[in-house]
Amino acid sequence: MEDIIADPLPRRATVGVNVGGVVVGGGAPVVVQSMTNTDTADVDATVAQVAQLAKAGSEIVRITVDRPESAAAVPRIRERLELLGIDVPLVGDFHYIGHKLLADFPDCAAALAKYRINPGNVGFKDKKDRQFIDIVEMAIRHDKPVRIGVNWGSLDQELLTRLMDANNALASPRPARSVMREAIIQSALHSAALAEETGLGRERIILSAKVSNVQDLIAVYRDLSRRTDHAIHLGLTEAGMGSKGIVASAAAMGILLQEGIGDTIRVSLTPEPGGDRTREVQVAQEILQTMGFRQFIPIVAACPGCGRTTSTLFQELAETIQSDIRTNMPVWRERYPGVEALSVAVMGCIVNGPGESKHADIGISLPGTAEVPSAPVYIEGQKVATLRGAHIAQEFQTMVADYIERRFGHSAAAE
Ligand code: SF4
Repeated sequence: MEDIIADPLPRRATVGVNVGGVVVGGGAPVVVQSMTNTDTADVDATVAQVAQLAKAGSEIVRITVDRPESAAAVPRIRERLELLGIDVPLVGDFHYIGHKLLADFPDCAAALAKYRINPGNVGFKDKKDRQFIDIVEMAIRHDKPVRIGVNWGSLDQELLTRLMDANNALASPRPARSVMREAIIQSALHSAALAEETGLGRERIILSAKVSNVQDLIAVYRDLSRRTDHAIHLGLTEAGMGSKGIVASAAAMGILLQEGIGDTIRVSLTPEPGGDRTREVQVAQEILQTMGFRQFIPIVAACPGCGRTTSTLFQELAETIQSDIRTNMPVWRERYPGVEALSVAVMGCIVNGPGESKHADIGISLPGTAEVPSAPVYIEGQKVATLRGAHIAQEFQTMVADYIERRFGHSAAAE
């Protein structure tokens, strides 16, 4: 029988970049990052959201620095976070006047762990390179890395026009979409070369090249990673709302990560009005965890249910266990080292229930319609109890908590 390899391709070798103590690239685990949507000048709101994102597991958080009031707020945000014991690196997102803000607010430049520059809107005509170099010089002065983040929505129009004109002069012009992809890559590579000529080392430069179409994103990043060993920030821009944004991000990034491409990811979800910004962190973690790259939180396997389950007991139990885990995780991470590797199964009937439950660290097979109203519980493949009656859910929750304490608690570590 042919042995099919069920592993990703080796990670592409990139030059590691230290972002405020978090290493991106150079073989380090793929980093999860996110971005706030508060007005950065509103210190209270921004501190609260950065804290939420960090607590959810964001390892780097980007904030908008769009005007003097925002730049002035950055050192205060950093200080307030330190007082809360939150040391997540902050990245400043600059557009148009970044060179000026960094020069006018040196405390802001010092408080940030990285500067994000979009080469498409750093300035126009002869000012473009000058202002880009100004930011790079600021990064050198403050010993900070930068991300050169190209986005097709703000692509350098002069470069695009030049490439389009050259393409149109060819006997067999390439499709416009292909020229656009080439312009995105050239913009990133040209800017990286300019930054290096200015004196910023490659170990201080991360590249991204975001588009909103899944196939274009895959093509752009495949090509970019073939042409450079800069650390790569992966993300689908304008992914969208709800399941559309999640599916598009997972499809695009999943393929690239499987090919060893990407050193840090951000899932750019549009939140519902008033929605929870931490969703993008959760989705990024789940992409990495379901693909086997990293472990962040115990996985709950639950069957989808079918005609054999007429009660909602197993759905409710799966939901309760999953939300229990998510709520407790910030404390568990400290108290139970290694708990993120735990697997739990909540199954709806006898067909796949016992088998799946035995594969999990702890699993329960609930009774399906017309089955005997009893629920066997398995721990590490062995049946350890059979729960009956009206309190199956609470009893299983207690068993999960006891198992975690036994396996990951202090007493387990002391054994
Ligand atoms: S385990 Fe049972 S209830 Fe769940 S999907 Fe399979 S057959 Fe249906």
